[in-house]
Amino acid sequence: MKVARFHAPGDIRVEDAPEPVAGPGELLIRVRNCSTCGTDAKILKFGHHHIRPPRVMGHEIAGEVVTGTGAFEPGDRVQVIAAIPCGECGECRRGRMTVCPNQESMGYHYDGGFAEYMVVPAKVLAVDGVNRIPAGVGFAEASVAEPLACVLNGQELARVGPGDDVVVIGSGPIGCLHVRLARARGARRVILADLNPDRLEMAAVLVNPDAALHGDDVTEAVLKLTEGRGADVVITAAASGVAQEQALGMVARQGRISFFGGLPKDNPIIRLDSNLVHYRELTIVGANGSSPAHNKQALELIATGAVPVADLITHRLPLTDVLEGIDIVMRGEAIKVTVEP
Ligand SMILES: [Zn+2]
Ligand SMILES: [Zn+2]
Repeated sequence: MKVARFHAPGDIRVEDAPEPVAGPGELLIRVRNCSTCGTDAKILKFGHHHIRPPRVMGHEIAGEVVTGTGAFEPGDRVQVIAAIPCGECGECRRGRMTVCPNQESMGYHYDGGFAEYMVVPAKVLAVDGVNRIPAGVGFAEASVAEPLACVLNGQELARVGPGDDVVVIGSGPIGCLHVRLARARGARRVILADLNPDRLEMAAVLVNPDAALHGDDVTEAVLKLTEGRGADVVITAAASGVAQEQALGMVARQGRISFFGGLPKDNPIIRLDSNLVHYRELTIVGANGSSPAHNKQALELIATGAVPVADLITHRLPLTDVLEGIDIVMRGEAIKVTVEP
């Protein structure tokens, strides 16, 4: 079968590999869609300390069961989690699976979905990490449940809810999902901002924010749009320290800020006026992936139409074009790119 394997930074190869075989307690699936995101671009550029090469990449996975186990039978349509909590540590036992210190990931510790066939490890099944795809949801849409699950985790932590004015900085696929989910959670107004006017325009046409802002005066524009209050929630969906610093200046009193996107690991320090946090009673939260339960809820949000994702998938490519797909992501020309092995 064909796979896309990471060998070293800058060296991802589409090559032949033997079809994997499921061991006891494992599933073998025929991958139908594995979508790409900024994480794949980051791995291509810099590698990742958890990846021991050669490793089949791909972590936004949907497919069909070939060899079943437990309740799963051949032909079942399934979506697979990306981040695998251990299920046993103190955090997992407290229900905080997104911050499990023993977390492993598909496409990092285990071969991922840029392949015709993939084994789902027993550890994934043990934490209920395989979800049946609801009727009416396609494989490509189901593959977007994983990033949507991460977005859901972020908005739960930032307590996005009815009546909130929400600013999303960054109009890539994650930013688009944030806009749609915020609306589904009852946000009053959702404002989308990006430095790149072309990408912002492409995203705004799809997700129709109440305002689309670019340029240097985003803070001023947000304050104006919110009658000087600022936004109840500001979400930075970009790997930008500047965006994180800006967020402090446009958030309302008692507002919440989600540092959803991480910063480059060689440049993670920002300047922050701690007195703004103190006097205005601000909450700053992070976000690290998603739990198996978030993945289930994300599939439901897609299935019920609360958060449509089909129209966010702008590119469908065969596995042989996976590098082109990652390149399109890096150039910011797509919303969501999915690979169909
Ligand atoms: Zn991803
Ligand atoms: Zn754990």
